[in-house]
Amino acid sequence: MIIDCHGHYTTAPRQHEGWRTQQIEAHAAGKPPPPRPTITDDEIRDSIANGQLKVQRERGTDLTIFSPRAAGMGHHLGDATTSDAWARACNELIHRVCSLFPRNFVGVGMLPQSACVSPANCLPEIDRCVNQYGFVGINLNPDPSGGHWQDPPLSDRYWYPIYEKMAEYDIPAMIHVSAACNPAYHTTGSHYLNGDTVAFNQLMNSSVFKDFPTIKFIIPHGGGAVPYHWGRFRGLAQDAKRGLLSDLVLKNIFFDTCVYHLPGQELLAKVIPADNILFASEMIGAVRGVDPETGHYYDDTKRYIDQLPLSAADKAKIFESNARRVYGRLSGVIEKQSARPD
Ligand SMILES: [Zn+2]
Repeated sequence: MIIDCHGHYTTAPRQHEGWRTQQIEAHAAGKPPPPRPTITDDEIRDSIANGQLKVQRERGTDLTIFSPRAAGMGHHLGDATTSDAWARACNELIHRVCSLFPRNFVGVGMLPQSACVSPANCLPEIDRCVNQYGFVGINLNPDPSGGHWQDPPLSDRYWYPIYEKMAEYDIPAMIHVSAACNPAYHTTGSHYLNGDTVAFNQLMNSSVFKDFPTIKFIIPHGGGAVPYHWGRFRGLAQDAKRGLLSDLVLKNIFFDTCVYHLPGQELLAKVIPADNILFASEMIGAVRGVDPETGHYYDDTKRYIDQLPLSAADKAKIFESNARRVYGRLSGVIEKQSARPD
């Protein structure tokens, strides 16, 4: 089985995000939000069958770990109340996708975060996602301010209520910022990669893994700048007398393969052990075009992994078994969902 651990519902029926615009406008005007729009099962089916499911089939992958559109999370918009209503709406839609296509999608939840609001307010939504929806992980935004970095670093006890839940449920968090509202950052071109790199650096300089030895993070987009600068981070850990970087992070931090060219994948696989790499493409997502140098889609990342000089056993880890290990509830959910009729 080929498991893509990083996909977002970027093709959701238009009225879903239309409501979000109305919700934020109503909030700004001091009015209550309009009622949620009707979204039919057929509309959801169409959006998936002609979108992510079609691409899965074309590329020969089997299952996508699926979450709400990341740039659409918009934790910097509105307040804690609007974030809560929006996260519920987005997660419910992911649950509907997973119910309609139980063999192809397993859910991951977005959190109702807001800048400078305690992440403890996300706990009821995590409970709902795991217990009612059968989701297997969460996306955690280390910068809900959207590019202004107003919250404490991930090393701070501020975030510990989330880590306690992750440990309790055996669910990992993918580090994922949302849209940038700071014009200095392009959302997918720099803010995402910056968020990945910042989060890794915060975690490596923390006691989080001493306090929560079992929790796991996935740093997406190939780990931002981390694998390329592994020597810098090793040296920084050494200078700070924190010991070997690999001992500090590799039981708890994993990297996905959303790197859109072969040389980048080669570097990732050379620097990071195969045990710590999870296959992902983030289709249909940030980069949608065809690479004229190869004639294939940039985000068709399976092609790059296929070309890596790794053993079949290592590729099996990257494509499947690492995901089942990192997402501790995944195998159980796959078994349960595949027993359901399509
Ligand atoms: Zn993403």
